[in-house]
Amino acid sequence: MTISANLGFPRIGRARELKRALEAYWAGTISANELEEVGRNIRLVNWDLQKGRGIDVIPSNDFSFYDQMLDTIEMLGAVPTRYQGVVGVSPFDRYFAMARGTESLSAMEMTKWFDTNYHFIVPELSPDLTFEWDGKRVLESFQEARSHGITTRPVIVGPITFLRLAKVKQGAKSALAYLDDILPVYVNILAALRDAGAEWVQIDEPALCLELEQEWLEAIGRAYRVLSAAAPRIMLATYFGKADDKLANLLSLPIGGVHLDLVRAPEQLENILDAWPKGKTLSLGLVDGRNIWRNDLSQSLTAAEKVVERIGPQNTQVAPSCSLLHVPVDLAEETDIDPEIASWLAFATQKLDEVVVLAGAADEGRDAYAPAFHDSDDAKASRRASPRVNKGGDADRNVNTARSLRSQRIEAQRDLSLPQFPTTTIGSFPQTEAVRQARATFKKGVLSAAQYDEFLKEETKKAISFQEEVGLDVLVHGEFERNDMVEYFGERLAGFLFTKKAWVQSYGSRCVKPPIIFGDVSRPAPMTVKWTTYAQSLTQRPVKGMLTGPVTILQWSFVRDDQPRALTCQQIALAVYDEVVDLQAAGIRIIQIDEPALREGLPLRASDWQEYLEWAVKCFKLASSAAGDSTQIHTHMCYAEFEDILPAIAELDADVISIEASRSGMDLLDVFKRSGYANDIGLGVYDIHAPRRPEVAELKGKIESAAGVLKPEQIWVNPDCGLKTRRWEEVKPALANMVGAAKILRNESIR
Ligand SMILES: [Zn+2]
Repeated sequence: MTISANLGFPRIGRARELKRALEAYWAGTISANELEEVGRNIRLVNWDLQKGRGIDVIPSNDFSFYDQMLDTIEMLGAVPTRYQGVVGVSPFDRYFAMARGTESLSAMEMTKWFDTNYHFIVPELSPDLTFEWDGKRVLESFQEARSHGITTRPVIVGPITFLRLAKVKQGAKSALAYLDDILPVYVNILAALRDAGAEWVQIDEPALCLELEQEWLEAIGRAYRVLSAAAPRIMLATYFGKADDKLANLLSLPIGGVHLDLVRAPEQLENILDAWPKGKTLSLGLVDGRNIWRNDLSQSLTAAEKVVERIGPQNTQVAPSCSLLHVPVDLAEETDIDPEIASWLAFATQKLDEVVVLAGAADEGRDAYAPAFHDSDDAKASRRASPRVNKGGDADRNVNTARSLRSQRIEAQRDLSLPQFPTTTIGSFPQTEAVRQARATFKKGVLSAAQYDEFLKEETKKAISFQEEVGLDVLVHGEFERNDMVEYFGERLAGFLFTKKAWVQSYGSRCVKPPIIFGDVSRPAPMTVKWTTYAQSLTQRPVKGMLTGPVTILQWSFVRDDQPRALTCQQIALAVYDEVVDLQAAGIRIIQIDEPALREGLPLRASDWQEYLEWAVKCFKLASSAAGDSTQIHTHMCYAEFEDILPAIAELDADVISIEASRSGMDLLDVFKRSGYANDIGLGVYDIHAPRRPEVAELKGKIESAAGVLKPEQIWVNPDCGLKTRRWEEVKPALANMVGAAKILRNESIR
């Protein structure tokens, strides 16, 4: 019988119970026991749900109180030395110290989990690190499910992925050199699971979808030969891409089976079927674990049937492409979505049903599941035919993306009369309690539109006068009317849908509610002109129009899967283009198009980077090409890792790019200089998140050393990111010092 399997279920809880419990625990209002109880309930509810929906293979240890990589760090005893002294009263104390820091300890680094918007805690490999099986949660959750009547397939992060994502600290050996240290720990864990009655274990190795060097490829074989000797049968789970270049290697190993992501890389199926060894299980990732669209069951069944015919139903599993962690829990929670659009969607709970139907139909034929196939076919047809999806018209109109030469633009922008080392900010000012309150009461209808408008005008006015007083050269309106840099625009664009409860974990207790791009994108009306021009009417100094770039809007949304991402991005770019046209016509001379997500959109394999960068750059240029020579285009990126994508950054040809330069220091500027980068660079001279106020002397030093590397006339001065999350008490003195430093240097160079 074809088996239905799941790789992981969202762990935040149906109503974000985990988020609330975590925050209550951190605030000291609930105890460790109460937090444990909330976790236990979520696990039991998830297990019962999966069992109730008919899933045969149900995971355990997919739950985490913060992050699965942090759990792995704990499980392997790989706790960095600086946290080892944190003992405390509850087992959570050290765990959360690593995740979030304490008064005296900084948190561990966090970064994005492959190309998802989920963040994991980065393991650290230092010379003094030793390993020992420590956290027993993997065993306990297996036993917990078992005493609840469910024999689960425990999930752990595999050794290759763990090491590949780890950060090697100074003086440590190479990451791979730790493999022999951690394998014995894995062996202990696997043996304990086997002894506890686990028949299978799922070992997650998404790193197998990366391009790996020869030594890593060899390590896979070495690792899994050791592990399979101790383990229950191993289901080696690869996802987020293709792993077929490692399969010959994998299939020769004594593991129980391999999971393939057939949503991201359907082509791998054909390549491996011929070589499939007798008796090994193939897990088919046919249901998209990364997106919210209803499965095309007919198409998926064709693949499943082919596999069943070749290797037999007993060796075939049907599963989501990856853990369902990356999609919201249940579509049934969304009661306000338009029914037509709702019929196109499937969240985690609905995806379980799809998996069960596919496994069943692979054995009994589609007629046994006729209603499900009927609904799926209908949804596909309705999506294809819906005028709300395909608007035709000018969504794909042609626009010339070329701007004049930079030298010509410099001349045309001279009348902006900016001083040397112009100062500005990244765009947002503090979203105070009052600002959030006003928005909430307006949404509830307590505050009238006119009253809310009045409130926003007042805030904007205050922000403008503060900026004038402190002496900034290029001002911003402050973005008090905006909730979020993607949501604000998405709510004003056609083709976007906003949900009420479709939360997805971003990290720890933080959840995001990505918009759903379901159709052709267009801009029915101006989105930012009102507030930008209002701010400009209050001052003689230039006010920057603030826009979110097309790649970032795309990257932080659930994107339609019925056309290439590049095309959707181009439609968003055209909407931003229209906004640039209107801002410019309204007299705005400087426009910033933020692209903080440009880098995170990079595909997992470097060989695919070029293609992505080509369309991503083209979309930015398309959006900014509406600007005439005299309109200055800025962009902002929140990071400093540019070396490998610098040609693409240069190709954006923004007049000014503001970057993080406070932590990365001046090495980065060398990179820009060596590449011959000639446009202006806004130095993020201070880290807005650092608790310490930046002093004039140190800020001045930073600008000076930058002026020693780049041409002084290339340099702008700004904080390293938006100030939305900061308090005015921090912002005011910090900006005063920043402007002060620029002014001193200006005066010195005049003399
Ligand atoms: Zn930023």
